[in-house]
Amino acid sequence: MTDLPLDFGEAADLERLRLDFRTWLAGHPLPARDEDEPLPVFLHRWHRILHEGGWVGLDVPREYGGAGLTPLHQVAISDELGARGAPGVPRIGYLAHALLEFGSAEQRTRLLPRMLAGDDVWCQGFSEPGAGSDLAGMRTRADRGPDGHYTVRGQKLWTSYAQYSNLCLLLARTDLTAPAHASISAFVLPLDQPGVTVRPLRAANGDDEFCELFLDDVGLTEADRVGAEGDGWALAMTTVAYERNALDTGHLSKYGLLVERLRRKAREHNGPLPDGLLTDIGRCVVDYQVLVAHTRRRIAERLAGLAAGPESSVDKLLMTRVEQRLYETALRVFPEELHGNGGEVFGDYLYSRAASVYGGTSQIQRNIIAKRLLRLPAGGRA
Ligand SMILES: Cc1cc2nc3c(=O)[nH]c(=O)nc-3n(C[C@H](O)[C@H](O)[C@H](O)COP(=O)(O)OP(=O)(O)OC[C@H]3O[C@@H](n4cnc5c(N)ncnc54)[C@H](O)[C@@H]3O)c2cc1C
Repeated sequence: MTDLPLDFGEAADLERLRLDFRTWLAGHPLPARDEDEPLPVFLHRWHRILHEGGWVGLDVPREYGGAGLTPLHQVAISDELGARGAPGVPRIGYLAHALLEFGSAEQRTRLLPRMLAGDDVWCQGFSEPGAGSDLAGMRTRADRGPDGHYTVRGQKLWTSYAQYSNLCLLLARTDLTAPAHASISAFVLPLDQPGVTVRPLRAANGDDEFCELFLDDVGLTEADRVGAEGDGWALAMTTVAYERNALDTGHLSKYGLLVERLRRKAREHNGPLPDGLLTDIGRCVVDYQVLVAHTRRRIAERLAGLAAGPESSVDKLLMTRVEQRLYETALRVFPEELHGNGGEVFGDYLYSRAASVYGGTSQIQRNIIAKRLLRLPAGGRA
């Protein structure tokens, strides 16, 4: 196993947590994936095993089913899993944050323990045809009737794994007269109800991750709304800020394994590597170290109580650079991974192409950095 990139060994209780987890993991290894078992079903099985062991939601308050520890404790678990090439803890942190920050006490109590346990499986219904980068341009509507109930009409797109989910964090426009950012509200949409149609889309790599979500006169109540009417934009920005960081995913350790493989290859190769490959491997190592250093800083900020904000756009760009360069280089160093059914590196290489799109494209991250962090004036011709 490689060095763990986020080893904050100085905290004794964290060290104990890592040791406890390693002991538990020795008795609960990653189960084998059944033939023909869809990836999300397999990951859900793993989610439940981790939850039963008490390793999910470590940073969520105890009253909502978590362990009431710090984000660092949860990161340590992701880190341990990633370093073993195992899937990380389920990626629900960003949804949990949305509920913790915007949900009512009743919603947190009702929804968070089930989310952590994997009793409910969530998807994210933000993007629409024509409203991805321009999310504020969404057209899905939730019209409130005199009885206070909402009727939802519209279409969502790219909704990952909606076919395996029973709940959707949905954004819809509730006020057609207000400016775009003040007119959006968020809802918890149960998918198993009349008027909801989920249609999976087949991607170029054969996966059926994406879905279209059609909403035809779907009924929702006020109890389904998260936050006040018009809070949807702020909730969405909170959600994506937590989605755009490298802390919770275990990706760092996973990248670390591959960086180590590349370094070993460079060391052991007989004679010079072809076509500047050594330089590319060097770049991967440096990019990775920059991301690790940056992530450590983010951890320190989170422990100091700072919420994730627009700085996450920097994280997202750094992660994308590491991921895409790393897998591109790995395929040149290990071309055999391109053959047969495609090794794990090949599958990861294909998925790395999406890193500059999901969670907001790289261009949009640069726009956010320019406007909200650097406060640059808007571009365009005079
Ligand atoms: C693997 C994956 C999983 C996803 N999962 C989900 C999900 O679960 N739920 C969900 O809601 N969405 C999901 N998405 C959708 C994702 O959020 C959108 O694809 C993304 O925001 C881009 O929107 P778009 O596809 O409509 O592209 P567009 O917004 O049409 O962009 C097209 C191109 O134009 C560029 N562009 C657009 N506007 C600007 C601008 N102002 N300045 C500079 N360049 C610009 C973009 O950078 C891009 O290159 C997922 C996407 C991927 C790839």
